[in-house]
Amino acid sequence: MVSKDKIRRILDSYDKKNITIATGCSHTSLQIFHGAKLEGFRTLGISVQQKTKMYDAFPAAKPDDFLYVDSYAQLIDMTDYLIEQNVIVVPHGSFVEYMTPAIFESWEVPSFGNRMVLDWEADREKEREWLTSAGVKMPRIISDAQKIDRPVLVKYHGAKGGRGFFIAKDYPEFKMGLEHAKKYHIQEYVLGTRYYVHFFYSPIKTEGYKLSKGVLELLSMDRRDESNIDEMYKLGSVEELKRHGFFPTFVVTGNVPIVARESLLPKFFDLGERIIESSFNLFGGLIGPFCIESIVTDQLDVVVFEVSARIVAGTNPYISGSSYSDLIQPGLSTGRRIAQEIKLGVEKGLLHEIIT
Ligand code: AMP
Repeated sequence: MVSKDKIRRILDSYDKKNITIATGCSHTSLQIFHGAKLEGFRTLGISVQQKTKMYDAFPAAKPDDFLYVDSYAQLIDMTDYLIEQNVIVVPHGSFVEYMTPAIFESWEVPSFGNRMVLDWEADREKEREWLTSAGVKMPRIISDAQKIDRPVLVKYHGAKGGRGFFIAKDYPEFKMGLEHAKKYHIQEYVLGTRYYVHFFYSPIKTEGYKLSKGVLELLSMDRRDESNIDEMYKLGSVEELKRHGFFPTFVVTGNVPIVARESLLPKFFDLGERIIESSFNLFGGLIGPFCIESIVTDQLDVVVFEVSARIVAGTNPYISGSSYSDLIQPGLSTGRRIAQEIKLGVEKGLLHEIIT
């Protein structure tokens, strides 16, 4: 892990009037560039073999420059060049995943947020320890497959976007679905409606929903469109389909805007608050955007199955604001909020608190 001192020294050398906000050319890059431009930053698109013609179609979100590399390894060789350009990288899910958390952790280009969160997020057991110790309700883990007595979801470790997850309702079904070579864990299948709640935590802002330090903001919510589970019901029961060799999968293909009933909002804020407060002690705090991935039961219990500790693609429906972010500032996207936080860090001389 690159040390905080090292990053602070690099930041001290930056020309604060000429900061460049950079990110990888996919995932949530449109809103990150759009937001950074609106806040007056220079922007740089990092293309690791991605095509960039798409940006011509969206002038308000086209970065000022592109950096083309063939691999993430080559990007490491560009470290000095990026530092010379006063670059702050905004890591999104794809960027960290493709660079790999291990390499990203030691990359010496200043990055928005706290890199220490990666250890706690990538390891499902540590993530569970973090959330349950914060008093957050999570789906039960079934450690003995022979004891499956209710619908469960079998999750493979490192599965991308839910690919290969499967549902089982008893031990024979579990055995039938299991791919033996892969590591997995079994989780109670929580029946309810899914809410992906997008928060932003600022350690340096003082006005708003206050925590022991800084403020918590609710920016938006979405529901993921998942193929093929979301459409499967059209063909009959899952049982019947399994007999024909069709199995449900949870591959994310898009995002649908959503608004929760208002009485759920205090519950969501309580969860966000717990997650942030407990992150202070565990790893020095989660900073910036994060997403609580939850299921709301018919008892209106909120069960959290995962937390993503950076900007997620579910914020993309809200490039021009959401029902929640509009009440903070009309038209505010998560991408723009990140740029505002960097601006506030510069103004207050506190960049080192939000950049690691
Ligand atoms: P994940 O990779 O953990 O984000 O899960 C992928 C998808 O599986 C989610 O978006 C949900 O649709 C579904 N899912 C995950 N965990 C559960 C659970 N415990 N109960 C019901 N559905 C779940």
